[in-house]
Amino acid sequence: MDFPQADRLKKLPPYLFIEMDRKKKAAIEKGVDIISLAIGDPDLATPDFIIEALYKAAKDKANHQYPLGPGLPQFREAVARWYDRRFGVKLDPKDEVVALIGSKEGIGHLPVGVINPGDVVLVPSPGYPVYHAGTLFAGGESYFMPLLEKNKFLPDLNAIPADVLKRAKLIWTNSPNNPTSALAGRDFYARVIEFSEKHNLIVANDAAYTEIYYDGQKPVSFLELPGAKEVGVEFHSLSKTFNMTGWRIGFAVGNKSVLKALAEVKGNLDSGVFNPVQYAGIAALEAPDAVTDNIRKIYQERRDVFAAGLKKLGWQFQVPQAAFYMWIRVPNGMSSADWCGKALEEAGTVVTPGNGFGKEGEGFFRATITVGKARLEEAVQRLARLK
Ligand SMILES: *Cc1c(COP(=O)(O)O)cnc(C)c1O
Repeated sequence: MDFPQADRLKKLPPYLFIEMDRKKKAAIEKGVDIISLAIGDPDLATPDFIIEALYKAAKDKANHQYPLGPGLPQFREAVARWYDRRFGVKLDPKDEVVALIGSKEGIGHLPVGVINPGDVVLVPSPGYPVYHAGTLFAGGESYFMPLLEKNKFLPDLNAIPADVLKRAKLIWTNSPNNPTSALAGRDFYARVIEFSEKHNLIVANDAAYTEIYYDGQKPVSFLELPGAKEVGVEFHSLSKTFNMTGWRIGFAVGNKSVLKALAEVKGNLDSGVFNPVQYAGIAALEAPDAVTDNIRKIYQERRDVFAAGLKKLGWQFQVPQAAFYMWIRVPNGMSSADWCGKALEEAGTVVTPGNGFGKEGEGFFRATITVGKARLEEAVQRLARLK
């Protein structure tokens, strides 16, 4: 029997990377040496002291049972201390912190807790696909806010139509941004807070990349702004900061009522994060800054090498101040998909077509710096042949 999928799955946008995946597989089978700059997943290893903390906690049989839904009190306290140390933001670990099975899990589940069928969710485009998928699964409708170069890839709140705003319940923001690497500053967040107070919106800021920054310029947290906790929550992750994507641990912080709804959804669907992984998370959050300084130094060297190479090709992009993505205009007027197909076939280099992150990404492609410097240099040499 071949059973039909639910209508909500049929509403998901088509997976635009199928053709790329097919070409990539075919090339690898032919023995082509492929450089993949397509994946937002650190190639670096999780630091050893974090693995040791996991191991030690896993040996303790007290940690083998179901974890507590919102996270171990010790983990939530460590998150609160980290927010204070890093952003000067005070959080009550009791009800202003929820542990997540990776922040993607919480981002996907939040709408289930706060969105009714027919409600509108304001979603950036291009953007992380989970904002829209979570909205669909909750029966909501996404209104896509274009991220345009002329607005420094920040959404133009004034361009959202009044009839959309009347039905809107939630706005997603994401800084440092995937896929554009754009940064929101305090002025932008202040506008978002004022806007959401006026229109009765929950703000959900995705802050997965605040610790991947360059030149010592630390990105701000949305929660640093006065009034932020009244209107919103922030999603954070250990994945990118500590090279822990496979471990599945993140957290949401901020407005109590919103977190309560999220925790209630989770309480009915999952039973939390394996305690030893939370203890590993505590070790990560309590680590001295030298650990993340080291990781940033590696990305900064890669960014510098890659950006210098791409500039020589005359390509148009902003040198990222944070995150590990280059968001580059397709140089010759081709479509994003055709260009990326050409890069794969003629240069053995995989980059991601911008329209895979939403319609407004057409005309761009994304390249990540999650490979070493020598490979990035090689990628530039190969891409130089594509004219
Ligand atoms: C990687 C990423 C995340 C979260 O990853 P988790 O591993 O689920 O914590 C969230 N948002 C964006 C924009 C990302 O790129």
